[in-house]
Amino acid sequence: MPPTDAARLAALVRAAGAGGTVVFTGAGVSTESGIPDFRSPGGFWTRYAPIGYRDFMADATMREESWRRGLHTYGAIVAAAPNPAHRAIAAWWRGGLVAGVVTQNIDGLHQRAGLPDAAVVELHGSAHRVQCLACGALYDRPSVQARILNGEAVPPCLVCGGILKATTISFGQPLPPDAVATAEGLLRRARLCLIVGSSLVVYPAAGLPRLTLAAGGSLAIVNATETHLDGLAALVSREPAGQVLDAAARALAATSDERI
Ligand code: NAD
Repeated sequence: MPPTDAARLAALVRAAGAGGTVVFTGAGVSTESGIPDFRSPGGFWTRYAPIGYRDFMADATMREESWRRGLHTYGAIVAAAPNPAHRAIAAWWRGGLVAGVVTQNIDGLHQRAGLPDAAVVELHGSAHRVQCLACGALYDRPSVQARILNGEAVPPCLVCGGILKATTISFGQPLPPDAVATAEGLLRRARLCLIVGSSLVVYPAAGLPRLTLAAGGSLAIVNATETHLDGLAALVSREPAGQVLDAAARALAATSDERI
């Protein structure tokens, strides 16, 4: 019988050794937590057209619409809990196998599964933080949501009156340079880049796993649908991320127990 995807994934993570794996995640790692992804049927963009950065900055009605959507979308993020895929990744980090996680997600579920902030590079920011675009003052999201529910349709900065925006990156907005630099360093040093739940169509993030290949490392892809890197990967699994990562983590834990 051919080895299962989980067994092959466990073997790749084991072969990459201590600190040898970097996990690159997208919205698909969180769908089993109940947060819809962007492009699958029923996903976010089938319901809302995106609000680009320029429109958000130029038009107060766009900012109002963005905060109104946030009441719904942030509520879904707060209600979600980490799933077996987030937990498997956290277990590998605790066991010293994973050097870090580079995520396109804004939901904070890797941290809620047990990873420290320092081990998670949030390329597209976080839905949990809000920042003034004029003076840089930071707010936690629930305090801003509370102001909206109290009737402030477009809440201004309490320090300087400037425009507030969630720290999530909108279309047309540059990625935070320090996050990109940290992600690039991690992916260049990785012996294995494990991609989980990303369509790999949103650039520049989607180009980053190629750094691992260029530096002589390998790719493993766990994604329900085809990606442009499938042909270059040592493993492509179409199984649900929670299922395959959970089974791979169990397989790895079993072999480390045997060694003890
Ligand atoms: P995407 O929606 O483009 O791709 C998600 C991929 O995951 C799809 O190819 C889909 O087939 C796959 N997938 C869905 N459920 C899966 C599962 N259970 N197991 C395996 N594969 C599964 O998302 P993306 O590549 O991350 O890029 C789009 C943008 O979406 C990113 O910028 C991200 O910031 C944003 N986003 C984030 C969240 C979140 O934080 N949870 C949610 C929606 C969108």
